[in-house]
Amino acid sequence: MKVFKFGGASVNSVERIRNLAGIVKLYEKDSMVVIISAMGKTTNALEKVAETFYAGKKEEALQLFESVKHNHINTSKYLLVTHFNECLAQLSDFFTEIEWLLHDKPVRGFDYYYDQIVCVGELLSTCIISHYLNEVNIANEWLDVRDLIRTDNNFRDASIDWQITTDKIKTTVNCHLTSKIYLTQGFIGCTDDNESTTLGREGSDYTAAVFANILQAGSLSIWKDVEGVMNADPKLFPDAQLISELSFTEVIEMAYYGAQVIHPKTIKPLQNKNIPLYVKCFLDPMLPGTVIHKKNSSNLPPIIVIKKNQALLNLSSQDFSFVGEEPMSKLYQLFSKLKMRPNLIQTGAINVQVCLDFREDKIGQLASAASDLFDVLVEKELSLLTIRHYNAAIFEELTKGKDIVLTQRSAQTVQVLYR
Ligand code: ASP
Ligand code: MG
Repeated sequence: MKVFKFGGASVNSVERIRNLAGIVKLYEKDSMVVIISAMGKTTNALEKVAETFYAGKKEEALQLFESVKHNHINTSKYLLVTHFNECLAQLSDFFTEIEWLLHDKPVRGFDYYYDQIVCVGELLSTCIISHYLNEVNIANEWLDVRDLIRTDNNFRDASIDWQITTDKIKTTVNCHLTSKIYLTQGFIGCTDDNESTTLGREGSDYTAAVFANILQAGSLSIWKDVEGVMNADPKLFPDAQLISELSFTEVIEMAYYGAQVIHPKTIKPLQNKNIPLYVKCFLDPMLPGTVIHKKNSSNLPPIIVIKKNQALLNLSSQDFSFVGEEPMSKLYQLFSKLKMRPNLIQTGAINVQVCLDFREDKIGQLASAASDLFDVLVEKELSLLTIRHYNAAIFEELTKGKDIVLTQRSAQTVQVLYR
């Protein structure tokens, strides 16, 4: 059994959906679970619907949703002939559910409504693609993943209940069949009370890893619009190179430092069951891509990650006392309470410097809470460069002429925060 995951970019047009069918066809002899995201920028559009609805602008929210509907109906019109009516009936059920909700007045928290609305993106895309595969004679079974992935009710960032999810997946998906294709949604789940949840933006990779883990899959393949995992963002570094083989540990580290390779939660379920992950290019399935597995990677090129829009909190002791365990543990409690993860921390005798992703509301809350413990100064609009497996030459090249605020290095990794 294999697990495939196709992201939003791989299903953002009629041509790309046809292309997906071509890829599935290549592997049709194996049985597989295919996990699919919402089409293109649908999740962003649905986020707007949720925000507008929650702001009390019902008519505008309905109008925004109308355009999501229109796009999906159009896509199915282009793709389907014999299955069109059946598909449209199923899409209409999903539309109606959202429209009912949009007619109500919001009485619960925003995150709850966000999940009820945003989850439809994946339901719509998989519904169309499942019908299309049937239309081109690739038999498949569509599953509503909300019947399988059970989560808590921490809306927008729900945690999976592994026990229930394992039972449900194992009783629904039969790994012993040959050439059986199951098709389902990434990113979404469901609570005990039958309320939809989401697992965090870009969470479909994680869903795919959960299925692979529970089904003891032979491999997981994530199909992307790049050749594989590169050592730097090719948009910023045109001579970025493909890395053909990486260890789980290296990828966890890369994700930690902000490389946008795969969703950070994806690796653990795979590593725990020793399931290899292939990052493949949907534009050319014959390209080898990258394999991520248990074996240690050797001879890696320097791996470069740049995170823009960083804030630095300069925290200094208010009375010239050492910054000891007490204030530090309180500071960490604040990070945990506000769900903020520092990208870099440097401690000194009477001060601490903390670099975080800048988010106006959160940085404001953190700075104000931390001012009970420290004198606080915030600097914004910084960039954080991380180089794994660095050498003097690459360090020199990438930092030349930069106005450096802070440098931190270990044997493997150097991080530079600059203005
Ligand atoms: N559709 C969701 C998103 O755009 C989940 C995913 O793509 O993985 O965040
Ligand atoms: Mg995506």
